[in-house]
Amino acid sequence: MQTIALIAHDKKKEEMLEFVEQHIDLLQGCHLIATNTTGTKIKDKFGIEVETVMSGPLGGDQQIGAKVAMGEVDYVIFLRDPLTSQPHEPDINALLRLCDVHNVPLATNKMSGHIMLKYVSIEQTVASN
Ligand code: PGA
Repeated sequence: MQTIALIAHDKKKEEMLEFVEQHIDLLQGCHLIATNTTGTKIKDKFGIEVETVMSGPLGGDQQIGAKVAMGEVDYVIFLRDPLTSQPHEPDINALLRLCDVHNVPLATNKMSGHIMLKYVSIEQTVASN
């Protein structure tokens, strides 16, 4: 089962919920991990299982980064808000860097996320044949 990390900054949370809704069938069959507020909103809205770590500003991005470094995350979808400065910018950059260090696919906007999940669904089809 693929592990997908989902993170959305505050101004991107609605977009993340719409994104999850569009891919709910696929995402239900994956292990989802998310920062606390993002994950809680997804769980509340869709009733699907999501492992949550701390909120991003409290260290959640770093926790997900650690899992990336440990090889425990296959894909990261991080809907960043490019128009608002974030107090935890160093943590965000560290997570992006670790994705590159460990060659973990990273989508930082919705369209990239759609393309990524298209690939995940192809992989699942191939694996089930
Ligand atoms: P949150 O964290 O899902 O807990 O809001 C995301 C972030 O701001 O990095």
